[in-house]
Order: sequence, then C-alpha cells, then structure tokens
Amino acid sequence: MPLTAAQQIRLRDDLRGLIQGDVRCDEVTQQLYATDASILQSRPVCVVCPRNTEDVVAIVKYAAEEGIPIHSRGAGTSLTGESLGEGIVLVFSRHMRRILHVGDDTVTVQPGLLRRRLNGVLGKSKGRLFGPLAGNPSSTSLGSILARNGAGLHYLRYGLPSDHLVSMTIVLANGDLMTLDRNSLPQPPLLEKEGSVILAHEIAFGKEYVYAGKIAHILNNRTSKQLLESANQLPVNRAGYAEHSVLQGERVDLARLFTGSEGTLGLTVAATLQTVSLPQRKSAAAFFFRSISSAIEAVSAILPLRPVLCELIDRRRLNMVRDWDARYRPLIPAEAEAALLVELDSGTFEEPMDDDNCRNHLSHLIDLVQTKKQLCFHALRVNTEDDFQLFDQVIRRSELVLGRMHHSIQPVPLFDDVAVPLDRMNNVISDLLALFHRHKITVSLSGHVGQGHLRIHPLLDFARPDVMSILHPLANEIYSTVLHHGGTISSEWGTGLLKSHFLPQQFPHLTPLFQKIKKTFDPQHILNPDRMIPQKAHWTTHLRHGLEKRGHLPPIPSGTSGSRFTKLQQPVETQPNQVEIQLKWEPAYVFEPAYRCNGCGECLRYDRQSRICPLSRGTVTIEQAPRSKADLLRGILECDIDLETLIGDRGKEIADTCFQCRMCDMECPAQVDVSTLAFRSKAAYVAAHGLPLEDLIMSRIDTILNFLMPASWLFNAAMRNRVMRWFLEKTLRVPQSRAMPALNHLSYLNRIRWSSLRHRLLPEQTDKTRVALFVDTFANYFDPQLAELAVQILEYNGFSVHVPSRQRASGRGSFLVGHVDRAERLARFNTAQMSELIRLGYKIVTIEPYSASCLTKDYRHLFDEKESELTAENVIDFCSFLEHHHQTGKLRQDFQQIPCRVGYHAPCSGLAISASIASDMMPAEKLLRLIPDLDVQRTERGCCGMAGLWGFQQKNYRHSVQIGIPLFRALRRAEIDFGVSDCSACCAQMAHGTKKRVLHPIRLLAVAYGFLPAVALGIQNSPR
Ligand SMILES: Cc1cc2nc3c(=O)[nH]c(=O)nc-3n(C[C@H](O)[C@H](O)[C@H](O)COP(=O)(O)OP(=O)(O)OC[C@H]3O[C@@H](n4cnc5c(N)ncnc54)[C@H](O)[C@@H]3O)c2cc1C
Ligand code: SF4
Ligand code: SF4
Repeated sequence: MPLTAAQQIRLRDDLRGLIQGDVRCDEVTQQLYATDASILQSRPVCVVCPRNTEDVVAIVKYAAEEGIPIHSRGAGTSLTGESLGEGIVLVFSRHMRRILHVGDDTVTVQPGLLRRRLNGVLGKSKGRLFGPLAGNPSSTSLGSILARNGAGLHYLRYGLPSDHLVSMTIVLANGDLMTLDRNSLPQPPLLEKEGSVILAHEIAFGKEYVYAGKIAHILNNRTSKQLLESANQLPVNRAGYAEHSVLQGERVDLARLFTGSEGTLGLTVAATLQTVSLPQRKSAAAFFFRSISSAIEAVSAILPLRPVLCELIDRRRLNMVRDWDARYRPLIPAEAEAALLVELDSGTFEEPMDDDNCRNHLSHLIDLVQTKKQLCFHALRVNTEDDFQLFDQVIRRSELVLGRMHHSIQPVPLFDDVAVPLDRMNNVISDLLALFHRHKITVSLSGHVGQGHLRIHPLLDFARPDVMSILHPLANEIYSTVLHHGGTISSEWGTGLLKSHFLPQQFPHLTPLFQKIKKTFDPQHILNPDRMIPQKAHWTTHLRHGLEKRGHLPPIPSGTSGSRFTKLQQPVETQPNQVEIQLKWEPAYVFEPAYRCNGCGECLRYDRQSRICPLSRGTVTIEQAPRSKADLLRGILECDIDLETLIGDRGKEIADTCFQCRMCDMECPAQVDVSTLAFRSKAAYVAAHGLPLEDLIMSRIDTILNFLMPASWLFNAAMRNRVMRWFLEKTLRVPQSRAMPALNHLSYLNRIRWSSLRHRLLPEQTDKTRVALFVDTFANYFDPQLAELAVQILEYNGFSVHVPSRQRASGRGSFLVGHVDRAERLARFNTAQMSELIRLGYKIVTIEPYSASCLTKDYRHLFDEKESELTAENVIDFCSFLEHHHQTGKLRQDFQQIPCRVGYHAPCSGLAISASIASDMMPAEKLLRLIPDLDVQRTERGCCGMAGLWGFQQKNYRHSVQIGIPLFRALRRAEIDFGVSDCSACCAQMAHGTKKRVLHPIRLLAVAYGFLPAVALGIQNSPR
C-alpha cells in the first residue's frame, strides 16, 4: 500500500500523537523490517514498537479507521513471511518483553519476550521452564510461539504450545480487548442474528461469549461437521486454523482458535503459561545408518519405547557439521548416510527416574536398533553433561549448517517443514527423491521424524538461469506428493505469505470455513491479511529482491577503482554515478556478505555460550543486530533505498552498531562478514563527511604516539592529572575515567635500532626456522618489554627472529572508523614488506591476535592481490604459533612453577582467527596449562567490550564497560589472582574493570622460562 510522502508523514505524526512507543517511517527502517528469515520481502509503510497494551489498542483502532493492515512481529525470524506486509509492522520484541508474574507453576508474560530468556529466568528462579519449542531456539518470541502453535523440537516431550496455555489477553481487530481463560470456557448462548440480542449477550456475559456463539454457529452446522470429519487430521498439522479443537462438548475454546492463527484473528498482549519442572537428562543415543530408509524404519521400532526426542539428520548435514566443528569428527562416522538422535524420558529433577532404570532402558533401545533389528551400523551412548551439550549442539548445527555453503548452490526455505504419517514416510521420501532427480536438484532431508515432520531442503543452483521460474512448479509438485500421502504442507513453521497460497490445495472444502472464521473476527481484513485464506497476490510477487544473486560472487576488482554498482545491477555500459565516485563506493566488496545473510536471527542470541553480538547483546532490535548491516546494503544494491542513505544519520547509526570484532565470521551460521559491511558503510560516510577529530585520532594513533614519544613524561603526567583529563575529554574526547597505559619514551623498534640488538633488523641467513615479528602499536609504544620477551621466548625455542624495521601499525583504528584510505595505505605497505619476507622463507608472527586478524582478514577485503593472499596464509599470532610448535613436540618445557590461579579471557580477535567456537580451548590457554602449578581457569563471559581502540573513545566508554561487566564479575572472584588475555587492549579493559593485575601470556611464559623474575609480577605474594 504505497503512500505519498505527505500521507506517510501524517501517519507517523498521528501515531506518535496516539502512543508512547516508537514510530518510524523512514526508508531505512522500512528496509530492515521488509524481510525475515524467509525468501520473501514486503516493505511496510511504518514500523511501530508499542510500549504497552494501551498502545496496541490505540494503533489497532487507528488502523481499523484508516483501513491500514497490521502485521504483528516478534523477533522476525519466520521462515514463511508471517510477519511481513505492506501495512504497519507492530514489533512486540522491543518493549513488550517483560515477565509480568511468576507463579509456582505458571508464568505471565508479554508477547515479545524471547523463550530463551524466559527459560533462563525460570530455570534459575524456580527450576522450571516453558517446554514447547516451536521455532528457532535463539530468538523465538512467545507471542509467535502461540501465534504459530507449531509442534517443534520438543513435541514428543511437551506436546503443543496450546497445551500449556492457561489464558491470554487479545486485542481484536476493532481494538477491543478480550481475555480468554481456559479454566472457564464459555458455554455460548444460542446465536441470535439481531444485533440488539448480541449486544445484550455481550453485556450479560462478555465479548468472549458472543464470539464463542458465532464460532459455535459456524462449526456446529451439519455441513461443517461433515467437512471437519472428512478432513485430514494429523496430530502435528499447522496448516489452517485449529477448527477441529475449538469445540469442547458444549463449550468453545476460543484460545485454541487464536493459537496457530498467525496473527490473523487478534493480537496477543499477555499470556499465562503453564510451566514444567526441568527435565532430567540421562538417556540418549545417536544411531548411524547406511541409508535414510533404515533410519525411518528404526523410528517405527523406537516409538513404542516413548522417546521424548527423535531427530533425523542426513549425510550432507552430518558432513558439514563435522567440518564446522572438529569435536564431531571422531564421533560421526564418515560413511553414515543418516543419523537418528534419540532421547528417552529420564523424569524430572523433582521426580527423577532411577539411574539403573534409565541405563537399562537405553541399553534396550540400542540393542533393539543395532543388534536385534540390525538397522544401524554404529551407535553412541550419550552419558555425561558434555555429551548432552554435543548432542544438543549437533541438532542445532544441523539445522543451521546449510547456510554455510559458499558457492552458487544454496538451500531455499520454501519446501521445508511438511509432515506425513510415519507409515508413509519412506514412500514420500522415495517419491521426493525421484522428483528431485528428475529436476536434477540435490536435496537434503532431515526433521523431527518421531512426529512425522520432514524438512525438505532442495539445494538450488542459483547459477541456473531457470532457477527462479522453477520455484513455483517445484513447490506444487512437492506439496502434491506430500498431500497425496496424507501429509500436511506445514507442521510447525506456519503458512504465512509463502504457503497460504497452497492451503486450498490441502483443504479444498475447508477454505470457505476459514474465510468465515476470519470474517467473524476481522471483517475488514486488518490483521495480517492475505494469510490462511486464498491470497489476492501470487506468493511469488513477494520474492525477496535479489534472491537469485545468493551465492553469486561478482569478481572483486583489483585496485580501488572497480566494478560499479550500476554494472552489478544491469550488465550494460553505464556512466559511473557521481555519488558512487564521491563515496568511493565499491559494491563488489559488500555484495557477497550482503546477499549471504538469510535473516535467521541467530545474531539476536542472548546467552553465555555465544559471543554474537557483543555490541547489541540483549537488545532484540534489528537495527542493532548484525543482520541490519546486511539488510541495509542489500537494500542499496537492489536500489530499494538510495545510496545516499549511507551518508545520512540513519545509515551511520546502523553502521556504528558494529565494532568489527569479527564474531559474526565465527558464529553467524551463514558466516556473513558483517565487519566488512560495517567498514564499507562507515567508509562511505567518511568519504562524504570526513573524519571527526576523535575518529581521526583513532585512525592515526600510531603517528600521534610516535610524535608524542619524546615528550612521553609530559603525556604520562597529563594522563595522571585530573584537570588535564577533564580538558582532554572536553577537547579530544578521551574519556576521563579510562585508565591509560604509560607511553614509553622509546618505541621498541627504535630501541633495537639503537642498541646492540640491531642485527635483528636484518634478515638472517640461517638453518633455523625464521620468524619475523610484527610488533604493532601497543607493544611498540606502550610495552616494548612485551615485544622483547616475545623475541626471547622464540629464540629460546630455537627460532631465528627478525624484527623488520619497515613495518607500520596494522591499522585496526582506521578500520574501526572507516578511514579506508589510510587502512589501505597501511595494508599495502605492510603487505608488501611481509610478503617479501614470506618469499624469503619467513613466517610472520604477531604479538596480538588483533594484528593477525587485520593482516589475515581485513587486508584481504581491501584489495585482492596475490600479496594479500600470501600474507594472510603466513601470518599467525604468537600463542597460536607457539602452540603449533608444542604440537610438533619441540616446545621447550623447562618451565619453573608459577603457583597462581589465573582467569583467562579469550579475545574475540583470537577466536576469530582460530575459527574456534567460544567454548573451545584457546592456544594461549593450552600453553599456560603446561606451566607447573599454574591453575588456568577459563572465564567465558563474552566480549570484554574494548574492541581494540573502540573503548578508548569517550562516546563508547560507558557501553564498553557495560559489555565487560559479566567478565569483570567473574574475574573479581577472590580465588582468581590475575587475569590473563593475549590481547593487550583486553588486558587494559580487564584491569580497568577489576582493579586486578592482568597479564599477557607472554609475560607468564617469560616468568616460567626464567626471563623475568616472578617478583616482577608480584607472584611470590600469592602462593598456593
Ligand atoms: C534457523 C531457523 C530455524 C528454525 N527452526 C524452526 C523450528 O525448528 N521449528 C519451528 O517451528 N520454526 C522454526 N523456525 C521458524 C521461526 O523461528 C519461527 O517461525 C519463530 O516462531 C518465529 O518467531 P519470531 O518471534 O521471530 O516471530 P515472527 O517471525 O516475528 O512472527 C511469527 C508469527 O507470529 C505472529 N505474532 C508475533 N507476535 C504476535 C502477537 N503478539 N500476537 C499475534 N501474533 C503474533 C506474527 O504475526 C507472525 O505470524 C526457524 C527459523 C530459523 C531462522
Ligand atoms: S547476520 Fe548471520 S546470524 Fe544474523 S541473521 Fe544474517 S545470517 Fe543470521
Ligand atoms: S563484527 Fe562483532 S560487533 Fe560487528 S556485528 Fe559482528 S558480532 Fe557485532
């Protein structure tokens, strides 16, 4: 529903006048909320985040008066375009996400609360949880769980979400509020047609009685009854309304009708849910099969043992999970065509099942599948808590893993989520395989097979010219096959904009009934129109712009002047656009990551195991989440929004929500390179506006320090003087409260230049393994001793160490502020020097992991030349280098004991370069554990908040400290003597937040080797 600019302004002003929540109608916001995790796109006219029920009522009344549709939205991760639309998008997850009341076995919540968050609180405070999980575990809101009522992963244990709903408060399409309490279901009066009688009933009994009467009238007539009886009734069917379950004898369960209605009948503003005790988890197993059909056969054998979970994973996903996470390599046999992950009931913490019982039950299961029926060739028992973590993660990863494909063949969430009766599943699978074979398409199959659910993921080749035109015929064929075998086209993900088109195929006779139900509650079609009933527009008209470009990589230009935006869009000769030239706009660099993001919402995650995304942690708003950068740039590439947006305030706001920690590279399932997207967006802004003084300081910090060095005493005194700090904060934006490291009067490079160690500045002819040390800013200007210790340790271990005098700062600060010219100058200089050394046989070792991250990752995105590839392949950080050396058995281990307990923090840049997951043991940690008596405790509490130089800026100071608080708390524990981190910026932040001493591992190694007296670290004061 396109509006004129004047109409939009009126809409915005009207809504702002009516409600307390946020109202945004700008094109960037429209772009961010135009997509979800589906392959669809629909641009809303306005995005509203209500603060309370009154806001929702006011918006709905206004929309009803103006005839504007409303699309309710939680976290926006639907796979069927459920919350997309051209009207007003109503976002519940920003403000309406509170827990209103926690009872003994119930909880009352607002709809925008994430299930993950709720269960975190319930688990801690009550030892309970809300069981059903129909949705993406990372970011599913409770409003949407009820709106979809899907079976989900835990169906066999907990049933449907509606089974746990006690009551709900709904805002109806006319703005009326209605509370539905399932403990007192209305027994409706006979429906009278005259309005006055209905009104009398409403006054006498309440609105729900009137609606109950109307629905009973629709469902109770003979034709409806016949239709309902004849319709297919799979237990996990999520297509259409829940018309079968509404009538409970004489009573009408309206809440059951609202659950699963996908926001088309009313909006949930509060719900009371039943909670259950946390389950005990003792018996689970993984079975590996030589064929999918044996796995499905095994399901029939397993179900009588009443599993609480039964998941199928196919070979393709298994292999990709093994590649993703090395821990699975020894566990998953390479020859497995399929795996079944099965969990049996072990009771709850309140009523646990006897251990022997659990063990016997599991042995019986394994014996049945492996020995008696001989269906699987390998089985693994899941015993310990760690095993269960791996078990859960393999399920999660297998769902996400296809997003990691890095070529034109990409999975498409269009046909996934069907359900079929189990006795027909093997027939369905063989028919589907034949179908895909005919179309020459590879397919991946998985699903919650214990409940008949099947995920069908065709891997479409986007290089095929006909790829977009086969989507609809393919969907038709697949759904026909599923329906032919008595299945449903949706078992949990709902129908949304995507599948509603196919609903009449499944329910040819019930469709008029759905229309009557819709008309009863929403005669004007205000709430999520075009869903659940036949659609006005064909679903393909909503296809995501540029979908066909997924997996298509345009060549990255060499040098800075490369292919242009216009050329990417239409391969015809066009004149470069003035704005592109001015902004140094290089679309080719952002093309791949911008299109790679599939909107999965994994980056909205909020838990300890995840580092994504430190900057937007817990906000649940798309603007701050990593995906906003991809959405914004995709909008620009697709011409949905102007290129000039990048130089506007809103574009800058979005770009500034990334401090380029590179945790996305590691944790985003699709490995979207958000850092590069943010860098390029910032660069465009800088090209148009220049750098503000504080950003200029950050970008040129190495030059400034070099200049200040001779007067280091003055600098250090100024940093200790409160008046000077106040002055510096007001003028240069250096935060007063931030402790600053002391500047050295001589940089490390100058120190060796003018000492007897000057031979290190020249490459050496030697038989020893040759290492060139990349020093970077911190060690060079603030901590030369660290660099010197690094050299000593390397030399002690038999390496010939060269410290190239022709090296400059890595340029982390320039990347951070989008100073592309300087970043490129530094990158070209360093790359030229380092690649020359590499050709001479040197390995480049950096003291800090962030330097390694710059040299190996960021430089590659600046220019695509052989040198940058060569450098990237031969740069390694100090601790990783030494740990590799240890693995070859050559590391000298004549360590002295260090009787201390240290809390180790893994820097984000270290995780990013080692491509580890947050819980993996880091190289520094492994090395430190070799030191006798040193007790190394991992304090995995997420990012420390420093992000290199980001936390040194006044505008970021408070946020930086806030991010670090969980880590500070962990380190402040009395039993921790020191903090340790292999990033000097992290060390500075940890010391600042804890007032404890924090050391670089190089120092501890130096003490252990005896290069540094223990007393220098104050170690003798804390023996154990
Ligand atoms: C990687 C991945 C894996 C997934 N795995 C699963 C899975 O295993 N099982 C599964 O079922 N789904 C799965 N999904 C789909 C998705 O997670 C679910 O659709 C999820 O419930 C969406 O939650 P949301 O908060 O993002 O809802 P949204 O997408 O924002 O909204 C979903 C629906 O709920 C409605 N809604 C939201 N709030 C309200 C409200 N207050 N009142 C009325 N209606 C409302 C919306 O209108 C919309 O129709 C997966 C998605 C991804 C990306
Ligand atoms: S950035 Fe990654 S995690 Fe976030 S929505 Fe996109 S694909 Fe998912
Ligand atoms: S790079 Fe780091 S800060 Fe930027 S979006 Fe990704 S996780 Fe967030």
